Amino acid sequence: MLQIRSDGRYRDTAAESCRETARGIYGGRVRTLNRKCAVIGCGFVGSTVAFSLMQSALFSEMVLIDIDFRKAEGEAEDIGHGMPFHAPMEIYAGDYDDLVDASLIIITAGAGQRPGETRLDLVEKNTRIFRSILSEIVRYNSEAILLVVTNPVDILTYETLRYSGFPESRVIGSGTVLDTARLKYLIGKELRVDFRNVHAFIIGEHGDSELPVWSSANISGVDLDHYCGSCMDGPGNARLRELFSEVKDSAYRIIEGKGATYYAIAESVRRIAEAIMRDEDTILPVSTLLTGQYGISDICLSLPCVVGAGGIHRVLEIPLNEEERARLHRSAETIRQVIDSVRG
Ligand code: NAD
Repeated sequence: MLQIRSDGRYRDTAAESCRETARGIYGGRVRTLNRKCAVIGCGFVGSTVAFSLMQSALFSEMVLIDIDFRKAEGEAEDIGHGMPFHAPMEIYAGDYDDLVDASLIIITAGAGQRPGETRLDLVEKNTRIFRSILSEIVRYNSEAILLVVTNPVDILTYETLRYSGFPESRVIGSGTVLDTARLKYLIGKELRVDFRNVHAFIIGEHGDSELPVWSSANISGVDLDHYCGSCMDGPGNARLRELFSEVKDSAYRIIEGKGATYYAIAESVRRIAEAIMRDEDTILPVSTLLTGQYGISDICLSLPCVVGAGGIHRVLEIPLNEEERARLHRSAETIRQVIDSVRG
């Protein structure tokens, strides 16, 4: 039943009465997740994330926050009109005090990448924006999981961790989940196999220094080189490198063409949200604080992590060959230099 509240928002009481809580055990204690999320920043990425999450039925309440309130209102109304085709939920434009009972806070606010601009070029602009947003978040909520999407995502995940004081398990960057999806898509197309049967990771920076872990890539358990007939040693090797270059350049190419990328990142965020809300213990290459893995610490970058109701439950130190290790260290160094310059 729909009720109009005193503040003019409507509330679906039927949906509320069947509101569930996701429960997950982590760190020895049970965590109950309220089915409410917040999306901060309602531009191309934030609004598409909100649209994807509405369709996912993972949440019963979603608040959209943007410095441009009318934009957030317009997005909430537009997405809300699609609700009769999906499970009911409440979606509205709000303010930071609406974060109070959110379990998941997704931050996509900030300047986007302009044609020709690298993700690292965005750092100063978006660090400033982030500090103002984080000071509001910590006023109202210290229990949520923070999911950072804004670029440069590794730098801003680190900034979020340090500035918020949240534990590292509850500060997650979308990292190379998107890049990994792009790689799986291209390999699947090349080998004419279901993308979901492709198992491969891109790790490191979500950006130019990222690297594919070819040494463990496989098609449903079958080594990649075996599956595609000496891909790794024969001429196929060059083709794999081309596919990876395509992944690395895809954001630049898409931005040249249509100004922004948002569909695949929205699906990546939905997948991370699903792993959290369903306490899946799913392995995803998200950006997290390194604490000595491969001899690297005190920066955020992507490694395969076990993700569930507590956020990041475990960071996996997967086997890497010598070349991959060296490239991961170079990627870490690139990120460290930027962090040092930002934190002065
Ligand atoms: P956009 O310009 O369309 O949207 C940004 C939104 O943030 C705008 O609506 C703006 O009003 C809002 N905003 C700005 N300052 C704010 C503040 N202080 N408080 C609240 N809202 C504020 O940009 P976009 O295309 O949506 O991209 C957003 C970010 O996501 C960019 O940094 C982009 O590079 C990044 N991105 C990341 C990935 C990834 O894989 N991590 C993929 C695509 C885009």
